[in-house]
Amino acid sequence: MTIAPYPENIPWYTKSIDFEKLWRDYPPPPDYFRTTALLSRDEMRALQEKRFLETVARGWEIEFFRRHWSAHGMEPGDIRTLDDLTRIPVYDVNDIRKSIERNPPFGDFMGISPHDEPQLPLVLQTSGGTTGLPRPMLYSPIDRETMAILAGRRMIMHGIRPGDMVLVTLSLGLGNGGMAPREALWRYTGAVPVMTGSGANTPTRRQIEIIKAWGIKVILGFPAYLRHMAIVARDEMGIDPRSLGIRLLGSHLGMENRELLEDLWGAKAFDMYGTHESGTLAAECQHQTGLHVFEDAFILEMADPDTGRLLPDGEKGTIYITTLYKYGAPQIRFNINDISAYHTTPCPCGNTSRRLQRIFGRNDNMVKLRGTNVFPEAVGAAILEDKRSSGEYFCFVDRVGEAQSDHMDVWVEVADPGVDHDALRNDLERRMKEVLGVKVQITPVARGVLDQYTQTSQSSKVKRIVDRRK
Ligand SMILES: [Zn+2]
Repeated sequence: MTIAPYPENIPWYTKSIDFEKLWRDYPPPPDYFRTTALLSRDEMRALQEKRFLETVARGWEIEFFRRHWSAHGMEPGDIRTLDDLTRIPVYDVNDIRKSIERNPPFGDFMGISPHDEPQLPLVLQTSGGTTGLPRPMLYSPIDRETMAILAGRRMIMHGIRPGDMVLVTLSLGLGNGGMAPREALWRYTGAVPVMTGSGANTPTRRQIEIIKAWGIKVILGFPAYLRHMAIVARDEMGIDPRSLGIRLLGSHLGMENRELLEDLWGAKAFDMYGTHESGTLAAECQHQTGLHVFEDAFILEMADPDTGRLLPDGEKGTIYITTLYKYGAPQIRFNINDISAYHTTPCPCGNTSRRLQRIFGRNDNMVKLRGTNVFPEAVGAAILEDKRSSGEYFCFVDRVGEAQSDHMDVWVEVADPGVDHDALRNDLERRMKEVLGVKVQITPVARGVLDQYTQTSQSSKVKRIVDRRK
C-alpha cells in the first residue's frame, strides 16, 4: 500500500556527500593542523595545481566562463599548469551583475539550479548588500560543507574550544553573516552557537543579559557592533563588560583598532577574512601575525588595482580570488576589490600557509579627494586612536563652493558629553592630514547622532561613507 502522492526522490543532504572523502580532501580541525597546515610549499603547489585544473574544467561547463574566456581568445586545453593561471582574464562584480541581468534570477555564472536532474539539496544565501535586491548565491552540498570546514578551522585557530558557548551577533536572514558560523561551530568545533543575530534580531540589552545568564565565553560580530554592545552594557546597564568573562572576540578587524576592542571587553580579539560567495579565506592564529590563507581551497593573487600587474609579496594590491573547492559557482580570478598584501616571512606557529597582512580597505570604498586616494577605513583607524571618541564615524563627501572642490566632512562620535569639541576637532584634523595626506573637516557629534547613517545598532553591515558628488 502507498500513500499518494509523494515525490519518489527527495535528495537527502547527508546522503549527497561522501563525507570521508571530503574530510580527507579538506581536513577539518584538528586533522588540518597535522596535515594540510604542514605541507611544504612544493606539496601545496602540487595540490593547488590539481584542484586548479579541475576548477578550470568545471569553468568550461558554465555559460558565464565559456563566454568570458572565449571573448578573450581562450580555448579549452589552453590551461595546462598552474603557471597558466595568469592567462585567464579577470572579472569583477559588474560582470556578475550583468550575468544576473542576462539570466535572472541567479545568473549564468551559477553552474547549479533547483531544476537540475538529479536534484541536489541546495541552500540560498545572499550578499549583505543594503541597497536594492541582494545578489543570491546557491550552494551545493559540497560547497556548503567545505565552507563549514574552513570556518571551523578558523574558529579553532582563534581559540574556540569544545563546550564554549558562542554568541553569534551577525545578521540572521538572507545574508550569510550568522548562518555560516552556525554551521561551522555546530559541526566542526564542538562549541555551541547561540544565534542572537544583530541588534535588529535581538535587542542589544537582551544580548547582554544572555551573555550573563548563559555563560557566553566567545562573541562573533563586527567591530562596530562589539563596541556598541560593550558601551550599552557599561553606560545603559551599569555592567562592566570586562566582568562578563568573555574570553575572545572573533571579527573581521581589517583596519579597526584591536586594542580598543580588547580593552573594552577584557578579551583577545581575532581577525578573519571571508566573503559570502566563498566563505572563510583566511584567519589569524594565536600568534596574530597576519591571516593564514586556506591555500588548499583558494589561490589569492595581489594585483595593482589600476594596471592589473601582479605584485610581489609585501606589496599592497587588490585581491584576485580563485576557488579550488567550489562546484556550484566557482570563482576563477575574481577581482574582489579588497586591498591586502602578503607577508614575506613564515609564521612562528608552524603553519606553512602564506599570510595576508590584513585587509586595508575596499578599493571601491576608496574616494579621490583632490587627487588623493582616501579609504574610509584609514579615517576610522585614525579616529580609533583617539580615546575622546567612541570610534564611531561617518564621512560625507561633497563638492563645495564656486570652485566645486572636493570636500570631506567626518562626523565623529564623542566618547562622553564632557569632551571638548573644539580641541578634538583641531587634534583630529591635524592627525587626518598626517595620515591621509589631504585635509578633511572633523565635526564632533553626540552619542547616537550617527546611528541613522551607520545603522550600527540595526545592521551588521555598517556604512561609513556617502559620496554625494555622484
Ligand atoms: Zn600562525
